[in-house]
Amino acid sequence: MAKSPDQEHPCKAFGWAARDKSGLLSPLCFSRRENGDEDVTIKILFCGVCHSDLHVAKNEWGFTNYPVVPGHEMVGTVMKVGSDVKKFKVGERVGVGVIVGSCKKCESCQQDLENYCPQTIFTYNSHYTDGTKTYGGYSDMIVVDERYVLRFPDNLPLEGGAPLLCAGITVYSPMKYYGMTEPGKHLGVAGLGGLGHVAVKMGKAFGLKVTVISSSPKKETEAIERLGADSFLVTSDPAKMKAALGTMDYIIDTVSAVHPLLPLLSLLKLNGKLVTVGLPDKPLELPIFPLVLGRKLVGGSDIGGMKETQEMLDFCAKHGIAADVEVIQMDYINTAMERLAKSDVRYRFVIDVASSLSQ
Ligand code: NAP
Ligand code: ZN
Repeated sequence: MAKSPDQEHPCKAFGWAARDKSGLLSPLCFSRRENGDEDVTIKILFCGVCHSDLHVAKNEWGFTNYPVVPGHEMVGTVMKVGSDVKKFKVGERVGVGVIVGSCKKCESCQQDLENYCPQTIFTYNSHYTDGTKTYGGYSDMIVVDERYVLRFPDNLPLEGGAPLLCAGITVYSPMKYYGMTEPGKHLGVAGLGGLGHVAVKMGKAFGLKVTVISSSPKKETEAIERLGADSFLVTSDPAKMKAALGTMDYIIDTVSAVHPLLPLLSLLKLNGKLVTVGLPDKPLELPIFPLVLGRKLVGGSDIGGMKETQEMLDFCAKHGIAADVEVIQMDYINTAMERLAKSDVRYRFVIDVASSLSQ
């Protein structure tokens, strides 16, 4: 018979887990493996709340394996290192993102694209090679192979830096890969949530003109005054949408729910690029005519590899980019999830794990 989560491994751990598709989280005692030769044991200090955590907690993608401890935007302090660990020392600040393992041998892994390895081990709701389940960062500690641990730059704030581990790399990687960084070009950011608001800041750091494309008129002032966007479009305002037709070079689409792509494709110029990173629970409809007639491109992108994630953290540290966060205690998580479902967050919840997790 399979062992219970608290009996599987020698290291006691404590976190909050969803147990069914209500998505409600409650305390869970579980366990982590003993620190191996290439492992780093981390005391978790802060963990961001990504919309993917909500999709998985509520089984919106259909593959949740309960109980699930979400959380893949964590920063913490190194407590222990294995004898073969080269990159980290006890006491250093580190980050862990969406993946904690991959095969290390395939073409993707060899190109530093561990995120596209067919055997990627995700930080939660996944399995280690020994068959035991992975549990995420809504918990007090984690043991991770050093390859999947990031150096956390000294001048990045812990709270505001944590969301970069998923939200940050998810928008940085496609901007680089799809060539969306040419200074002076016009970037649209669809959906002003956790991913979107970081995309605005990165777009400005790359020297782009940035327009937010949002369903929430009340975010306009903040988008411009606080986040630095150049302009703001509300999708429900036909006159403004019409005036902006054919004006954008690129759009990054971070919307978490099913939405029409036609209005976004119509905003693009000839040869424009629409990159979708949002992961709604149902397929989106792809209008072919505007694609074909405007030689436009639609692409996707999934987080980023470890090397690029480190590059992104260093880029953010250099440009003073961090997420705008609402720091919460662990026992606020169910209210936070309800608010996240309603796009009511400015602009990322981050759990103060160290001060609020006690058994
Ligand atoms: P978030 O903070 O909830 O932001 C999503 C934004 O989408 C909302 O703030 C809202 O912006 C807009 N939105 C939500 N519902 C909408 C609706 N019904 N119609 C139109 N717009 C709507 O979420 P997030 O953490 O940024 O994540 C966004 C999506 O990316 C999620 O699906 C998540 O799972 C996915 N994701 C993908 C990757 C990847 O590697 N590809 C990584 C992380 C997350 P406005 O109020 O401005 O309209
Ligand atoms: Zn995420």
